[in-house]
Amino acid sequence: MTTEQTADAVFGLLSNEIRVDVLRAVATAQNEAEQSGGGIAELPFSEIYERVDVDSTSKLSYHLTELTGTFLRKGDEGYSFTHAGERMARFVLAENYDRPAEFGPLETDGTCLFCGESALEATLHDQYFVVRCSACGRPATGYTVTPAQTRAHDGAELLEALKRKQAIEYELVQRNVCPECGGSVTTEVRAASETTLPDEVPISFVTIDECQHCLRIYSGPMTYSVAYHPASVAFHWDRGVDIMQTGMWEFHDHVRDGRWTAERIETDPPEYRVVFRRSAAALTVHLDDTARVTRTERVRSRTLD
Ligand SMILES: [Zn+2]
Ligand SMILES: [Zn+2]
Repeated sequence: MTTEQTADAVFGLLSNEIRVDVLRAVATAQNEAEQSGGGIAELPFSEIYERVDVDSTSKLSYHLTELTGTFLRKGDEGYSFTHAGERMARFVLAENYDRPAEFGPLETDGTCLFCGESALEATLHDQYFVVRCSACGRPATGYTVTPAQTRAHDGAELLEALKRKQAIEYELVQRNVCPECGGSVTTEVRAASETTLPDEVPISFVTIDECQHCLRIYSGPMTYSVAYHPASVAFHWDRGVDIMQTGMWEFHDHVRDGRWTAERIETDPPEYRVVFRRSAAALTVHLDDTARVTRTERVRSRTLD
């Protein structure tokens, strides 16, 4: 894509059924080529013509010319995707322009951060996934769900798939990569007292990660995003807990009972320490002023108390 193109012109190029069919055809043909071990090939004009319902070669030629540069590349052998073409084709094939199916309420593990009751329920309502406490009515967490996800799984299985995706995405964010666009994120650390969280919730610090490119924001208690760091994943795995299969709302009781803590240990520049305690062991994680992990250490938990 050339930089002079505006977003509306780019999307305008796709307001035509034949062009969308061309993107589908290229994706399908490439998939078949890869399946048969041929690798990703350029697709000759004749093959696209066979796969797309279009009246004449001149009409197809016109549409291919329109798509080339933005959604397709033209090489010696034929056509292949640009980055935008591939993203758009996958979006179309997954039908992620559709509405996700609603589900729930579905009981889920974890306790309410506010009232401490084990009464969390997950629902997908109005296209948005929310875990809410049925005892006090307050929300525990929210996240995005794609229509393809709700078609692929339902009920408890969907919840498990969602936890897996959330874990991987927060792990990426902690490593400075935006899961949405691949751009970089900047992180702000805020005292929980400056947020809408009630004072009695021992969160201490909240991290707000914002993508500078697509503006997506990921936020949560500092301990939660650090929980998906490999050192924490390994520490918990060694103790029989699969953190990568645990939803953020299932972390609340660790914070409420003081097993997971975050504190500021230096002020200029700020440095933080997160501690995960489990039985007699603990993992300490040091973070810099941008909440990136600088050092980790396994210790006996009582040396910390
Ligand atoms: Zn509650
Ligand atoms: Zn982004």
